[in-house]
Amino acid sequence: MTAQQKRTIYILWLLVVPLTFYIALNYFPAESYNYVNLVIYLAILVATLMTSISLDKVSMTLEKWVIFSLFFQYGILAEMIFMQIAIFILLFSQKSPTPKAFRFAFNSINFAVVSSISGAIFYAVGGSLHEMTLGTFLLAGFIYASAYSLINSVIIYLLFKWLKIDLAGMKKVVSWDYVIAILLLPFAITFSLLMQEFGSEAFLLIGVPFLLVLLVTSNYMKSNNLNEVLSSSTVIGHQLADSLRVENVLLTFIDKIKGVIPYDSAYIVDFRMSENLVMLAFKEGEFRSGTPNRFTFPQKRSEGDGLDVETTKLFLNKKGIDSLLGYTFDPLVESVMTAPIKRNQRTEAFLILTSNQRYAFEDAHVKMVDLLTGYLATAVEKARYYEKTVEKSVRCGLTGLYNFRYLESKLDEEMVRYHTGEIATLSTIILDIDHFKSINDTYGHQSGNDLLCAFAALLRSYQTSDMTLARYGGEEFVIILPDYEKEDAVEFAEMIRKEMEESSFKIIPDLSEDREPTIVNMTVSIGVATMPMDAKDGKELLRNADRALYIGGKQAGRNRVGVYEEDKENVVS
Ligand code: GH3
Ligand code: MG
Ligand code: MG
Repeated sequence: MTAQQKRTIYILWLLVVPLTFYIALNYFPAESYNYVNLVIYLAILVATLMTSISLDKVSMTLEKWVIFSLFFQYGILAEMIFMQIAIFILLFSQKSPTPKAFRFAFNSINFAVVSSISGAIFYAVGGSLHEMTLGTFLLAGFIYASAYSLINSVIIYLLFKWLKIDLAGMKKVVSWDYVIAILLLPFAITFSLLMQEFGSEAFLLIGVPFLLVLLVTSNYMKSNNLNEVLSSSTVIGHQLADSLRVENVLLTFIDKIKGVIPYDSAYIVDFRMSENLVMLAFKEGEFRSGTPNRFTFPQKRSEGDGLDVETTKLFLNKKGIDSLLGYTFDPLVESVMTAPIKRNQRTEAFLILTSNQRYAFEDAHVKMVDLLTGYLATAVEKARYYEKTVEKSVRCGLTGLYNFRYLESKLDEEMVRYHTGEIATLSTIILDIDHFKSINDTYGHQSGNDLLCAFAALLRSYQTSDMTLARYGGEEFVIILPDYEKEDAVEFAEMIRKEMEESSFKIIPDLSEDREPTIVNMTVSIGVATMPMDAKDGKELLRNADRALYIGGKQAGRNRVGVYEEDKENVVS
């Protein structure tokens, strides 16, 4: 809201509230006040305000039962004064981003108007403080309670319109307010009748039982709420455990906690490499990868930067947020939560949640986050282990290239891509080192292994994101080249062949005694085949590339590129 709007409300307060009090005092005087009764009413009012219940996620206090009863016994003025006291108490017990002075001024005007108009309506429809039949009392009371709730809703509606606040959540609040007003009416009527009949002691008959029931209900609702929260956290835990990729686990986590913790942006920062911080995942609106726009953090942690590595912390005002040195947030951020993500009592990462609302996070949210980060750490560990295992199972232990198993499944995938038209051609290159057996025989198996690794490194230097490099077995390797025309694949093969021919490899022979470093030269023979002209499927493609290698490469004298052609195999080199 603007300063202008605030000023308007304060001026309106000065105009409306004293006037309504003046009218109430002069035109609707009470007959006589029983001060013991008033003190009892006050005590019950305070106790009622302290115990809120939540209906449909709308938090409510039931002060109307005291307020209405007071009205039926002492009239508008007493009711108005008590309602103003209630507004004052609620100012401190209810968290709200709106400044207290504004809240008080607005609610004070609101209820001064509500009290006086609905009070006047009560009298107008035949209500009086005494001497009514129960029927009249019930009817006038019903109209009074309805007017009370309705006028209140209309005034709040006007305020929201004026401040341009979203009205989406209002319908639910208004409905519950009305239901509560009507439900509390019989209690208020009974209370005021009993007070009239028996005096102050009547509060033992209805005041105390009402408060006890309220207390039990409120606690029941809290534990119900806690149960709900716990079961939804278990669901989140299961969903996390279902993800087998670390990235998915992190994104699922960020997504799902939105349902239980009202954040605007979320960040998960890695803390495993001692003091170095790395962004793992985040959500600012929908944007989830790359570098966040609304948050910066230091690359290295420093002592005394205000970040707690052991416990979850809330920063609920600008001053608190500024105490996180080196971490800068969007200027709109009003609340921040930092939570360590621990595994085996070690903090491995941080969760940072921000909200543009003041007091957005509560202690209940902290408990929730602590529970969920526990699930997260376990799920991430599992996913990391799974990723590592999968990675290992598709790699050759010696060269680190993909193994035959992976090659086969990759070839199947590429076939699908070929048949769906995603790629137009598919070339395959098989490479076999020439006379490798004699290298083994001359320098030993260990040196043979070193040379296989050196050749793998040579191949890897050509690696691009779309090609697949695999060790077929022994000293044979395969390269899958999606969307490569045959002549491009041949040219590529020729490049490798040439580089191998011109390269020298240094080894330390494990067979000789002196183990002097030795320079070894190697050559490689290569076969090339391409879909669709050379084969119908992946297996045939490999077989024909192998044939080209054997006939066009090895048989033709080695150190050559053989190209498969339907009836004869040509040699290009
Ligand atoms: P060609 O030019 O006809 O390909 O002759 P080659 O000696 O390379 O072919 P051959 O198939 O007769 O021998 C391949 C050799 O590769 C046999 C084996 O000792 C060696 N070899 C296969 N796997 C490994 C390995 O993992 N490490 C080492 N050091 N040698 C291997
Ligand atoms: Mg071989
Ligand atoms: Mg060989």
